[in-house]
Amino acid sequence: MKNISILGSTGSIGTQTLEIVRNNKDINVSALAAYGNIELLEKQIREFKPEIVCVYDENKAKVLKENVKDLDIKVVTKMEGLIETATCNDAEIVVTAVVGMIGIRPTIEAIKAGKDIALANKETLVTAGHIIMKLAKDYNVKILPVDSEHSAIFQSLRGNKNEQLEKVILTASGGPFRGYTKEQLKNVTLEQALNHPNWSMGKKITIDSSTMVNKGLEVMEAKWLFDVDYDHIQVVIQPQSVIHSMVEYKDGAVIAQLGTPDMKIPIQYALYYPDRVFLEGDRLDFYKLSHLDFYEPDLETFKGFRLAYEAGRKAGSMPTVYNAANERAVALFLQGKIKYLDIPDIIEECMKKHQIIDNPNLEEILEVEQKTYLNIDELLK
Ligand code: MN
Repeated sequence: MKNISILGSTGSIGTQTLEIVRNNKDINVSALAAYGNIELLEKQIREFKPEIVCVYDENKAKVLKENVKDLDIKVVTKMEGLIETATCNDAEIVVTAVVGMIGIRPTIEAIKAGKDIALANKETLVTAGHIIMKLAKDYNVKILPVDSEHSAIFQSLRGNKNEQLEKVILTASGGPFRGYTKEQLKNVTLEQALNHPNWSMGKKITIDSSTMVNKGLEVMEAKWLFDVDYDHIQVVIQPQSVIHSMVEYKDGAVIAQLGTPDMKIPIQYALYYPDRVFLEGDRLDFYKLSHLDFYEPDLETFKGFRLAYEAGRKAGSMPTVYNAANERAVALFLQGKIKYLDIPDIIEECMKKHQIIDNPNLEEILEVEQKTYLNIDELLK
């Protein structure tokens, strides 16, 4: 029996993780955490019977506590609560599927408590990769990527030596606006941006896929996960989302991982690593597939993607600015307060204003995040 804790259990990755648990008898849920969707969380509690559950929103935590008083369960709240669910005694693996920089502290504490991390929170490595990867090494815990691209690279690296790696090749679907010109992007609506061709995901990441900022964040994550520099991380558009990513070795051999676009494959791989178990779902049918397409990303039209390489190369606290500016800009776009192309413009403005802090500690990272939000407020006045 493997015990897991899920941070962000009511989101897209969280619910799919629980589907995997439901279909396998050898995984037990020790802890769950959600932001505030207590209706779904209560259903999850009654089905999966964790010992401890965190509702980040304090008022909603009180309501949930009342609603589940017939059960023997501890309900906790806020950052201390999130950390308690991340470090809960029984759990061997913590699935970090919360959205945003809120995921960094619980991830750090989980590593210190010796838990393996099934990492689905991008912000953790983007903003604090230098802290997290060192800690994971010091505490001898595994960082198991859940994102489909990083899982594909992780799988393609098995049985080979990292020193013999030439480059990693991240694939991207290109999103709903692949092939668009900048002019065509000007009047993109929220509805169009939320309509991803292949993957079903949360709203924030769906917008990020359409701007290709998501791929930019993934490039930065890949740098930390696989210890490669930016000159050796290539992105290629693969519109069918069949090749999930690849690695090229010194001898020119390329190894890729392919499959249907189903997030349960990488989630389950992280939970069972190094084993593979049955997973129900469609299989690739190469007779029907007939062809795969590849394109170079358009760095001019998708400025948010180009800026990611720039932020990553500048390093230090710059990736935090990139991430925070995007996070806030996407929230404003989702609220209908800014236009689509304001998203990359806001990121660029915030990066221009920023004085880089080298090797920032956690406090500095969180300060830079807040400062970036303030800069955006000012920018929009
Ligand atoms: Mn991805």
